[in-house]
Amino acid sequence: MNNDIEKVLFSQAQINHRIDELATTISAKYHDEFPVVVPVMTGAMMFAAELMKRLDFKLNIDYVDVSSYEDSSKSSGKVRLLRDLSHDVSGRPVLMVEDIIDTGHTLEFLNKLFASRGAKSVEICSLLDKPERRETPVKIDYLGFTVPNEFIVGYGLDYNGLYRNLPYVGVLKRSVYEK
Ligand code: 5GP
Ligand code: MG
Ligand code: MG
Repeated sequence: MNNDIEKVLFSQAQINHRIDELATTISAKYHDEFPVVVPVMTGAMMFAAELMKRLDFKLNIDYVDVSSYEDSSKSSGKVRLLRDLSHDVSGRPVLMVEDIIDTGHTLEFLNKLFASRGAKSVEICSLLDKPERRETPVKIDYLGFTVPNEFIVGYGLDYNGLYRNLPYVGVLKRSVYEK
């Protein structure tokens, strides 16, 4: 598995350190807010678990599953909701947790969805941002790291369902997806 990685961008230690910082910032903001925290499955699973353990306030955990990539390394631009929330977010602050913001379509879709349900506020915390590929503007309230325009895997991010369990964030070798 490690042989398929071109280079490591962020080690587990670097990621943990950054998550500590993000959790401190978010905890200061949300201490009396009682938000619904919404990881976007499956990519955000690992990041969200590490982040939420460090959040020092009352919250509910929910999740959504969406699909924008149809088993390839190209975004289709279409977002489908595969699994909806089980919480009513009307009047509640919502904190979305994402693995990476690429074109921005997924976030725009979810932002509108939660706003249409009367969420008190909608904020986004993303481990990674790939700003070069943005097609629609999105505001990232809490960001781990910015990444170059390459195909990223590890720490929850997959290629065709693989590499999610790598404990670091890395660039996938082109030979893996161009053969
Ligand atoms: P967007 O809707 O912003 O284009 O894409 C969001 C989703 O596409 C991310 O949550 C992630 O699942 C997937 N994605 C975007 N860029 C990458 C990437 O470099 N690597 C992987 N593994 N997934 C990506
Ligand atoms: Mg994602
Ligand atoms: Mg994926």
